Amino acid sequence: MAYDKNNVFARILRGESTCQKVYEDKYTLAFHDIKPQAPVHVLVIPRRASPDMQDFTTRASDAEIAALHRTTARVAQLTGIAEAGYRYLCNIGANGGQEVPHLHVHVFGGRPLGRMLPPT
Ligand code: AMP
Repeated sequence: MAYDKNNVFARILRGESTCQKVYEDKYTLAFHDIKPQAPVHVLVIPRRASPDMQDFTTRASDAEIAALHRTTARVAQLTGIAEAGYRYLCNIGANGGQEVPHLHVHVFGGRPLGRMLPPT
């Protein structure tokens, strides 16, 4: 997937669009999803201009890859969902249902989340 520099998360990273920030560090930014699907629904994104997980794991440094995971766990702690449990989900490409072409991990929690996928 080619990287679109004008996607909404790129604009958030450049400060051209606002977000409700939860956490940030050198490699990552975490903010509340604009249309939450659970009481807690946070998105974790890398600062690297990477369209998806395939590109990210090929091009990013080990430190950047580790940071994405660490930030996800930290977000669960900061939002109070770590102890009860939560879901960490990444949509990739068309079949994965990815809408925004900048890699992001969804962190859902705050209620029982049910089955992993809807029955077919
Ligand atoms: P995905 O289908 O995995 O690409 O998910 C994209 C997510 O981005 C959706 O849950 C949207 O609600 C969310 N989203 C889109 N625009 C924004 C925004 N400006 N701020 C926060 N979340 C957003």
